[in-house]
Amino acid sequence: MKKSVVLYPGLGVGHLTPMVALANVFVQHGATVTVALVEPPTTSPEFSAALTRAAASNPSVTFHVLPPPPPPSSPAGSSISDDATSSAQQHPIVLMFERLKSMSPPLRNFLRSRLPAVDALVLDMFCGDALDVAAELNLPVYYFYASGAGDVAVFINLSRSTTTSSVDLDGDTVLSFPGAPPFKASDLPQEISNGSPGAKPILHALSRLPEADGILINTFESLEPRAMRALRDGLCVPDHSTPPVYCIGPLVSGGGEKEHECLRWLDTQPENSVVFLSFGSMGTFPKRQLEEIAIGLERSGQRFLWVVRSPRDPEDMSGKPLPEPDLDALLPEGFLGRTKDMGLVVKSWAPQVDVLRHRATGAFVTHCGWNSTLEGITAGLPLLCWPLYAEQRMNKVFIVEEMKVGVEMSGYDEEVVKAEEVETKVKWVMESEGGQALRKRVEEVKDKASQALKEGGSSHAAFVEFLKDLDNMRSL
Ligand code: UDP
Repeated sequence: MKKSVVLYPGLGVGHLTPMVALANVFVQHGATVTVALVEPPTTSPEFSAALTRAAASNPSVTFHVLPPPPPPSSPAGSSISDDATSSAQQHPIVLMFERLKSMSPPLRNFLRSRLPAVDALVLDMFCGDALDVAAELNLPVYYFYASGAGDVAVFINLSRSTTTSSVDLDGDTVLSFPGAPPFKASDLPQEISNGSPGAKPILHALSRLPEADGILINTFESLEPRAMRALRDGLCVPDHSTPPVYCIGPLVSGGGEKEHECLRWLDTQPENSVVFLSFGSMGTFPKRQLEEIAIGLERSGQRFLWVVRSPRDPEDMSGKPLPEPDLDALLPEGFLGRTKDMGLVVKSWAPQVDVLRHRATGAFVTHCGWNSTLEGITAGLPLLCWPLYAEQRMNKVFIVEEMKVGVEMSGYDEEVVKAEEVETKVKWVMESEGGQALRKRVEEVKDKASQALKEGGSSHAAFVEFLKDLDNMRSL
């Protein structure tokens, strides 16, 4: 019988985009899919634009915006709070989790209105509160993890073994987790370290991963064999067995944009000649760092396509949209004129998947967000890793040491990455034998990714197995 599933992607472009790709996999396997959406607590033009694009390009998927939650009733005395408490309450991560928690009643009402015609609920990694809704409605529930298997292995372990509300370790402490190469504590997300207000809700959400009936991961077996072995062998959850894990990726959505000026510009460039620099849906740099990048790019003599955003005020926690960048004010004097024949700077946003797949693109300077990582790999591009936030420093470790599809930009963990480093690494990846060897290696991984998705490939088989397991759950 035709299955019907509800996907619940939570908030953020990096969480919505892969969930939409998952929706398409369900559709390909004959299921009916509804994506239940939460409106962000603060306006996010990137999220709205991603949603509009997703809805327009996926007509077989229904997108349903959940009604807003009832206004919070403030408990007596809660209006009296000191500055530190109220600034912690205003932290964007805290606000995000509050919003997700408050969405449980609208989600419950929505699911109830559809029952019994819903076979499963699939949750984003941060939507743990919805586990309780699924339990109440007796509905099978799965996670779709928006990052790699290495991350799952580490976080499932860490979130269940730490008894504190944040991980406070000296940055040089070397950490060892089953399924991951050793890495420094400073590579853990800053959002869960050193008393960050976001640490408690993040760790709590991740600690609930083993409660689901299974975890779908956007990766493929041969990309992360060590992590998958550890997860399957139950080595990652100290006090609980790991539910079944299914590697069903790499799922990449987007692409198909034709009109953007940067794609027209790429059409005029030689094959594999352009270095693309893009730092996720939220990455920004201060003016000083933008200047260093500009100087390094110019000195490298390589062609480039660079997405530049306005710097974010580090004190501003509002998460409000950034204005268009004033490139003349932000970049070194005369830079745009001097480099006009070899480079293009795009303001704020580029159609990344199309850029990466363009025949003229030859390397990718990335912040190591998981979607960007998979998009780079499936385009066969060597990665120059410049992690910024969230789990990206860990991803950098996996990319460089486990998957061997990238190298690190030194200085990402210092005040600035210097112009010399940008120049050296960009030249290295485009001109050296080492860069050629890396490109060849990524080409091989790209082929393995595409094999995994084909009928009979590991990811296709894992999805079929997941559907079978779901059938068995429903017949219990
Ligand atoms: N993206 C894009 N254009 C940009 C910047 C980002 O299309 O200029 C897309 C990118 O292709 C990816 C997503 O935004 O699909 C970012 O997700 P990722 O997991 O890489 O990073 P996050 O934004 O979650 O940090």
